[in-house]
Amino acid sequence: MAESLISPDQIYREVQKAIADALQISEQKVEPDSSLIRDLAAESLDFIDINFRLEQRFNVEMPRKYFLEHVEELFGEGTAIDESGRLTEAAVTIWNARLGSAGPRVHAGMPLDDVPALVTPRTLVMIVGEILATCPATCPSCGKAAWAVADGSPITCGGCGAHAPLLAGDDVIRRWLEDFRARGGSVSRAS
Ligand SMILES: [Zn+2]
Repeated sequence: MAESLISPDQIYREVQKAIADALQISEQKVEPDSSLIRDLAAESLDFIDINFRLEQRFNVEMPRKYFLEHVEELFGEGTAIDESGRLTEAAVTIWNARLGSAGPRVHAGMPLDDVPALVTPRTLVMIVGEILATCPATCPSCGKAAWAVADGSPITCGGCGAHAPLLAGDDVIRRWLEDFRARGGSVSRAS
């Protein structure tokens, strides 16, 4: 598979570097589970900067919206966030389904405003990895299965030099949510 051209370890090193460069801190300060906001004092503009660096590095488009915003958009307003801006039971169910037991924990009643602080380098590695995993088996331009990664470059076709066509981050999330619904995942509103 094309995405195995870039290992999670390599993605992690690039995420670490993007964060350190954007925040002008040493890479050693960035740990896999550091909260970008709480531990590293990142602000909204820093997130844009970090995403931009990763987009340049991997030729990907990072998601513009948070996961729970997509849940609201796809499954209806009030599904994930109640009218006082807090997470519903459905939000917790779907969050856990996506991030698994290793992911950061959320609970019903938690303010949505607290969610951005859960973003860690590990989260960003997962997002980049998911986007890279949308690389098709063969190059749509020349039909060859010759994806390659030169040092420090994005996935490129060894046959014709085209960049790998990758799904945008927001589309990756939407696709996951549609699969979740098709599998019978519970997204009913809390009654
Ligand atoms: Zn090609």
